[in-house]
Amino acid sequence: MNWLTNFVRPKIRALVSKPDVPDNLWQKCPACEAMIFYRDLADAHHVCPHCGHHMRLGTDDRLRLLFDGGDHQTIELPKTQPDPLKFRDTKRYPDRLKDYQGRTGRNDAIVVAHGTMGGHKVVVAVLDFAFMGGSMGMAVGEGIVAGARLAVLQKAPFIAIPASGGARMQEGILSLMQMPRTTIAIHEVKEAGLPYIVVLTDPTTGGVTASFAMLGDIHIAERGATIGFAGTRVIEETIREKLPDGFQKAEYLLEHGMVDIVVHRDDLRDTLIRVIDLLTRPHPEAEILALPAAGGASGGVHTGEAAPPEPAAQPGDRSDTE
Ligand SMILES: [Zn+2]
Repeated sequence: MNWLTNFVRPKIRALVSKPDVPDNLWQKCPACEAMIFYRDLADAHHVCPHCGHHMRLGTDDRLRLLFDGGDHQTIELPKTQPDPLKFRDTKRYPDRLKDYQGRTGRNDAIVVAHGTMGGHKVVVAVLDFAFMGGSMGMAVGEGIVAGARLAVLQKAPFIAIPASGGARMQEGILSLMQMPRTTIAIHEVKEAGLPYIVVLTDPTTGGVTASFAMLGDIHIAERGATIGFAGTRVIEETIREKLPDGFQKAEYLLEHGMVDIVVHRDDLRDTLIRVIDLLTRPHPEAEILALPAAGGASGGVHTGEAAPPEPAAQPGDRSDTE
């Protein structure tokens, strides 16, 4: 280092850079470019009041939004080995981690919390996009496993809320190993007969999409969220074709069957409660009506009467299929 880098460059930077406008008071909507006062934005849960664009919601705000009265308890996650590969890019990986830990006040990109939602006990795992793009390394994998096991222990539905750029490259193969690990963790929830619901938020991409984010019994996506594996540009360059408008957006994926429900953020909590209600209620409240007999000779619908058995398939019918 010499006086040019140590002394002159900071001075020039200070001259060139704009004076510090407190950018946390006003935020510009990336969609309609309206300026929104921070308090209005917080009240609207970071949805633009002018155009309805859903901006990213912080992890703590999201947890407060979902749980009854905002009350929840976060669990302590198992420690993982920091920097197993002694990775360094422009910065040492441990330094990068420390930087994000300081900025976000959490250990890694995941928070696991439990509490009640509409009176139902639930366990929620949220990825924090502000922490290295919500990337999945060992700590995130560990968090999903811990969340899934807690759900099994509490006999509660498990809700995953990904917001991630994918696997964490600083952990190489160890981050990729979290894909099968989280998949197995989700299977433990399913084997216990508990609902597993995924709330896809902007953005859900890469190794997270390729593992626990796409294994839900029900997939709920926030409006306009980007959900995909590889980025649009990468796909276009690979297949040398222009992709349709809105490709990888929540609404497009709903039309194509990858997502079950697309919701406005204001309706997210109610939708989740409704889905959990439906999935956890052992006996439906409505009476189950038997279907009227084929041909309708008997007419009307009778309860408690078994429908006549289907006519047995002719042996000849099957020969061509097997
Ligand atoms: Zn807007």
